[in-house]
Amino acid sequence: MVKAVFPGSFDPPTYGHLNILSRGAVLFDSLDVVIAVNPKKTPLLSAERIKALFEEQLSIMKLEHVRVTIYEGLIVDYCSSVNASVLLRGVRSAADFNYEFELSILNKQLNEKIETVLIPTDPKYFVLRSSTIKELLNLGGDISAMVPPAVERALIKLHGKKT
Ligand code: ADP
Repeated sequence: MVKAVFPGSFDPPTYGHLNILSRGAVLFDSLDVVIAVNPKKTPLLSAERIKALFEEQLSIMKLEHVRVTIYEGLIVDYCSSVNASVLLRGVRSAADFNYEFELSILNKQLNEKIETVLIPTDPKYFVLRSSTIKELLNLGGDISAMVPPAVERALIKLHGKKT
């Protein structure tokens, strides 16, 4: 029984994240999507909103062994608390790889029992980043190919309130 954790800020959740999630769900017996809260950052969407949006997608994708939680703290501590032995992350580029590689070394130093597994992105999603989505949203660009419809609606509603 291999339990994995897929952590991230997911602000907002994108098709790139969902692609890694669905491929990870095939590899592991159970998978926790962990919305990491950083109290120093002001998120676009609240962690609770992101959780609800993920849960909506999971029921559409019929992934019953995947659950979503919100966590503030070290991700290796979360892994220990739920007996997960794998940290799942996605990589889009060589720059991502460098970052993820260093992060995996750091996490290994914090808890040597936890292995990081990196999944390369599907080429369809390799230009997909949260920062691009935020910029497009500000400029009124079309984000429908990047995020599921419910996420798009939430972002447009939020953006409408600010303008
Ligand atoms: P963080 O703030 O922890 O980097 P993100 O929410 O940006 O969290 O991303 C979570 C994980 O998903 C990271 O491993 C990131 O590299 C991966 N990821 C983000 N976008 C994509 C994408 N388009 N394709 C594949 N992996 C992605």
